[in-house]
Amino acid sequence: MQCKDVPEEPVLRFLQKRLGRFNSWCNGSISDVALAMPDDTPPKVVLRKISGLMRRGLVDGCDCGCAGSFSITQKGQEYLLAKYGEGEWEETEAYRLRAAIEQCLKQDPKDAVAKLLELVAQEGL
Ligand SMILES: [Zn+2]
Repeated sequence: MQCKDVPEEPVLRFLQKRLGRFNSWCNGSISDVALAMPDDTPPKVVLRKISGLMRRGLVDGCDCGCAGSFSITQKGQEYLLAKYGEGEWEETEAYRLRAAIEQCLKQDPKDAVAKLLELVAQEGL
C-alpha cells in the first residue's frame, strides 16, 4: 500500500473535527490519525501520508517519527472546504471503541471492564 491509496479527505476531516485537541499517529488512542485511514494502512504509510499533507501546508506538526502533534492548518481547512465541501468526519467503529475504552479507563478500574462491556453493547460494536 502506498500514500496514493490513502484518501486525503477523511484524514483532513478527522483533523478538522479534532481541531484544538492532540493528534498523533499509531498510538492506539482516539488521537490516532490512522483511524481516518484504511484499516490495513502500515504505520510507515500513515506517517508518509501526513508528511505529504505537511509539505503541501495543509497539516502542521512534526513528521520525524515522534508523537507528531498534528493539526489541520488554516490553508488545510480552506482546501478541504473548497475541494470537498461541507462535511464532518464520521466516527468509525474503531474510533468509538477506543473512545469507550478511554472513557472506562478514566473510571474506577474495578468497574472498568463491566462498563466497557456495557458501552460496547450499547454501541453495537
Ligand atoms: Zn518530531
